[in-house]
Parts: sequence; structure tokens; C-alpha cells
Amino acid sequence: MAALFNRRNQLQWLALLAIAVILPTVSLLWFMSRVIANERLVVREKLAVLYQDKLTDATAKTESLYRNQIAALDKLKPADNPYSVFKHLVLESQSQGVVIWDASGALLYPRTTDALGNSVTANHPLAAAWQLEFAKNEYAGAAELYSQFTTNNAPQVAITALIGKARCLSRLNRLDEAIESCRQAAAFSTGDEDDLATRVAVENARLLLLSLLKQSAQAPSSVHSPTEVFHRTVDSLTEDLYDGKSQRALLPANQNLFIAQKVLAALEGPIPFPDTKAKDQLRQLTTAEETSFTIAELYQPLTGKSDVLFKTTVTSRPSYGLCRRTGSGTMLVLLSDAGLASILSGYREAFAGTESTYRILDSSGDFVAGTAQPQGQPFTVAALPEGFPGWKAELYFQGGDVFEKAAQRQIAVYTWTGLLVILLILIVSAFAVRAVGRQIRLNQMKNDFIATVTHELKTPLASMRVLIETLLEGNVKDETQVTRYLQLTAKENERLSRMIDNFLTFSRMERNKVAFTLTDARPGDIARDAVESVQTKFATHNCRLQTEIPAELPEIQADHDAIVTVLVNLLDNACKYTTDDKRIGLKVSANHDTVCFAVTDNGIGIARRHLRRIFDRFYQVDSSLARKAEGCGLGLSIVKFIIDAHKGDVMVESKPGQGSTFLVRLPIGEKNAD
Ligand code: ADP
Repeated sequence: MAALFNRRNQLQWLALLAIAVILPTVSLLWFMSRVIANERLVVREKLAVLYQDKLTDATAKTESLYRNQIAALDKLKPADNPYSVFKHLVLESQSQGVVIWDASGALLYPRTTDALGNSVTANHPLAAAWQLEFAKNEYAGAAELYSQFTTNNAPQVAITALIGKARCLSRLNRLDEAIESCRQAAAFSTGDEDDLATRVAVENARLLLLSLLKQSAQAPSSVHSPTEVFHRTVDSLTEDLYDGKSQRALLPANQNLFIAQKVLAALEGPIPFPDTKAKDQLRQLTTAEETSFTIAELYQPLTGKSDVLFKTTVTSRPSYGLCRRTGSGTMLVLLSDAGLASILSGYREAFAGTESTYRILDSSGDFVAGTAQPQGQPFTVAALPEGFPGWKAELYFQGGDVFEKAAQRQIAVYTWTGLLVILLILIVSAFAVRAVGRQIRLNQMKNDFIATVTHELKTPLASMRVLIETLLEGNVKDETQVTRYLQLTAKENERLSRMIDNFLTFSRMERNKVAFTLTDARPGDIARDAVESVQTKFATHNCRLQTEIPAELPEIQADHDAIVTVLVNLLDNACKYTTDDKRIGLKVSANHDTVCFAVTDNGIGIARRHLRRIFDRFYQVDSSLARKAEGCGLGLSIVKFIIDAHKGDVMVESKPGQGSTFLVRLPIGEKNAD
């Protein structure tokens, strides 16, 4: 019944311990899983806020750059010289093309004209010369006729005559004279008062001069410094082209473009032109002017929204135009890639050097700026500011999901901490299990002890009661029997006393209340007193005791009675755990610093695995045998306690079936040592 109760008790303890481990572990795991889930959200939230801020900044910057662009357009009035507006927008603002309308919607730039100045009419002063030159191919006669008009009062006639003469002379291979004639035409005053026809005539003379100079460079010629003349002519031509400064009659855009293209062609000739910047600018302007013609054709009349970017395919690739309408007119500007990139530079700056990348798409989903083919899905998308209708900016993480990476780092920290805590719980629990197990065993031993004590005390008490009752009832035959009964009673009494002594010693030991009086003690006397104590018992049990106590032994510092108790316990055990032929020995010896008491027997011996524990309280190798042998597992623990208090040591050598030897070594006090 008690065993059952104990087992249930143990199970309860174990269940409690399991709960103490499992509950916090499960809670911790649950908590960790929540934290991990939350961490992903928190990291995502943190980074999203960070990048959202950057995105907001980039959008604000783009908006401000866009407004600046509009403000810059407003500074250029459509009514101003269109070439000055065009030149500024192309060279300064990197526009690909420009179209300008006035307030009434009439096209200001690029405006064209059909008249190239010289209409072939029969009553023109030069009609006869043209007839000779073009119809009859009589160049010498034609040159003569032209010469008569080179000083004509009408500048346009004079210039045309000079050009015609030059043309004819070049046909006659009189290149130097032709150049001279052309130079005169080209040098004609082009002051502010010049009308358009004169301007066109002079520019034509210059173009012809360039071509004649190129020819002369390839053939022997006596022209004075042709390269210098060539450069000067190119300079004056480029100065006149896209001329936004002077008040002279404006060259129509188609004529301007024609002349500019011819100049560019002339620059590719044998005469080198070192001013590459001027050449590049001229090329840029002619390309933009060509584009402007195409835009003007496409968007005439101009409809649609102003102040917003719109997509167009004027060039081979899609490009973006911006239309600004004010009270004084309307301007349409085709942005170049660089121009658009500079408006969108806020995005590039905001996300440079971060783990993210961006992509800007226009309203039709076409890629505009950023990374053309980013990896994965965008983690946030935002609209571009006003002016970019339907455009959006997408944010991507480079090299995988950064949210996940950042979260993983944090999660690893949590996981390791959690695992460490679980490990700690397990270690602590293991200790607790051991401690509780030990406590359970101790309790069990104590219960056994109480049962044993009761049993052990009952036996001598019962014997004594029987003996005394017999004596009192007078059921004794003679004096000898009385004496025997009294002797038996005394023996039982003595056994009882020894037992109680042991219990008391144990109890005091338990409460740490044992005080030993260390005095000079003689090992021989101790051994003899112990032998005397067990003599009667040994005699009863037929124990043969062999002692070896040298006469000369050094004194030790010890509590005489306590050491007697030690030896009595060891001798008692030797008797108890020996079967029939009980042969027991007690040998005392000494060396220079210790005195050794050895108790040997030829008893049942002790298995190796028990040797370490027999000195534990209440420990019994085989409780059934111990019970039979009147033990309660305290004797050796008392022995160890006493010997430890004397700073000595106790050892056992034993083999099952071959007997045991218990060795007690006590230090010799300094003054007794040899
Ligand atoms: P007990 O009161 O049971 O003898 P002890 O503390 O004296 O308690 O001894 C503990 C256990 O050690 C005993 O139960 C016994 O099994 C074993 N033991 C002690 N002395 C001997 C011995 N001389 N020979 C064999 N076993 C012994």
C-alpha cells in the first residue's frame, strides 16, 4: 500500500516536473513564433516607412524640377525672336525640338516660306544672262552679261549677278576668278536693314564660296589663304544661322535649315575646321530643327492638355513633349533623354547606394528611367507628381527581398536566445529532477528508517518484557536462572542503548549538532574498547575475531568514544554480513603520519556499483538482507561523518562473495608525529 502510495507520489512529482519544463518551453516556442511573425511585419514596416520617405522626397524633388522647367519656359516669351528661344531650349535645356505658336494660334516657329528669293521671270534684269547660262550653256557670254549687273543699285540684283558670274567662271574652270566674284557677293553688307531676299542671296553666295574654296583646295590655285577665307565664311554663316540677337529679317526656318545642312556638309570637306564645339552645336541645332518640323506638322493645330508630359514618336524612339500655354502664346518642347533624366534625377539620387532600385513607367507602362528589368516584385509603387499623368515609380529590392534578409537576422537572434533559454530550462530541470529524485529516495529511506527503528526497538523491548515478566511471576527455578535472565535483560538493554545511540548520533548529525571533543587518544585503547563492546554479540553469533593491536602506537587527536562507535559499527557490519563461518579481523597499524584501523571479514562482499554509495544515509545494498541482518542503512554514514570530522578518510575494498575490508585512517597530531 505504502509502495503504491510512493509510486503515485513519484509520478505526481515527475508529472509536475514535466509540466514545469513543457509548459514554459511550449509557451516560449509559441511566444517565439509570434515574435518571429511580428518581426517580419515590424522590419517590413520600418523599411517601408524609410523607403516611402525617400520616395516622397524624390517625388517632391521631381515636382520642383518640373516646375522649374515650366518657369524656365515662361521666362522665354513666344513673342521673342523664335531663334533665341529655340537656341536656348536646344543648347541650354537639351530639348530635342521646339514649336512656338503666338497667342492667336499662328505658328511662329518653325515657319517656312516657298520663295527662295529668285523667281525666274522674263522681265528680270538678269533674265538674259540666265537664258545664256541655263538654256544655252554659254558660260563665257553669261559671265559677261552678269558682270554688267554686279554694280547694280539693287543689292539683291548685284549679289545675284556676282553669284551667277562666279557660277559661270567656275564652269569655265576659272576658279580663282569665280572665288573672287563670290567673295564680293559674300562680303556684301548684311546690316540690320537688310531685307530677307538680300540676306538669302548673301548666305547663298557664302555657301557657293565654301564649295568653290573646297574645289580650289583640291587643285592648284592662286587664291590667297583659302583656309582662312573658308573659316571666316563658315563663321559668318554660323553667326547668321539661328540668329536670335539681331533685328534683321528672320530667315525662314526651312531656308535656315537648308543653309545649316549645307554648311555641315561643307565642313566634311578637305579643309579642316578645328572648332569642334561650334560644329557640334550646329549639328545639334540642325537635328533639333528637323525634329521641330516634324512636331510642327504633327501637332498643327495644337490641341490637348498643356503643362503635362505627353508621349510622342516623332523620333525613332518614344519621347516626351511638354506643352506650355500662356497668355502670350504656346510653346511645345520635346525633351531629350538627358533633359528628362535631369527632371527625374530626384529618384536616382534618393535610391543611389541603397539596397533598392527604382523603375519609372509612363502612363502606357513603358519604361522611362531607372532599372529597366528589376528582379522580383515591386514592394511599393507611387504615382509621379502632377505633370506626369498616369506615370508611376516602382521600388524594388536588389538581390532578393531585403525585408526578409533584415527579418532573418533578427529572427536568428530571437531563435538562438529562445533555444538557449530552452536549454537552460532543460539543464535546470535535469538538476531539479535529480534533486527531487534524491529527495524522494531520502523520504522513502526515512519512512523505511522509521519502520526499522520501530521494529528494531520493539525486538529488545519485547525480549526484556518477557524476561522481566517471567522473573516477576516467580517462574524461575534457581538463582542461576535469575542471574541468566538478568544478564539477558542487560544484554538486550545494551543492544537497545547502542541502537538508540546510533539513532541519536544520526539525528544530531542531521541537525548538525554533533560536537566532538578531540583529546589525546590511544588507538590501542580505542580498538580494545570496541572489541569489548561487540564481544557478547560476536560470541552469540559464533564470530571468530582476530585482532592485531601493536603495543606501541602513536596517540591521535580524536574523540575516543566516537572512534569506538566507528569501529563498533564496522565490526557489527562485518558480523552481520558474514554467513556461517564468520572470521573477522581487526588490525591497527601506524606509519609516520596516520594510524590505520582495518576491519576485514569473509562475508558476502559488496558489488562494485554499490561501493560508492554505501556511505550514503539509509543506503542498503539489499534491503531484504539488511532487514534480516537488523540494519537500517545508517551505520556507515555515521562512520563517514565521524571520520570526516576527524579529517581522516574511510575506504572499502570488497568483492562479492570474497569478503570486505574497511580501512579507517586518522591523522596523527603534529606533536605525536615522528
Ligand atoms: P546497515 O544498518 O544496513 O548495516 P550500514 O550503513 O552500516 O547500514 O551499511 C550499509 C550497507 O552496506 C549495508 O546495508 C550492507 O548492504 C553494506 N555493508 C556494510 N558493511 C558490509 C560488509 N562488511 N560486508 C558486506 N556488506 C556490507
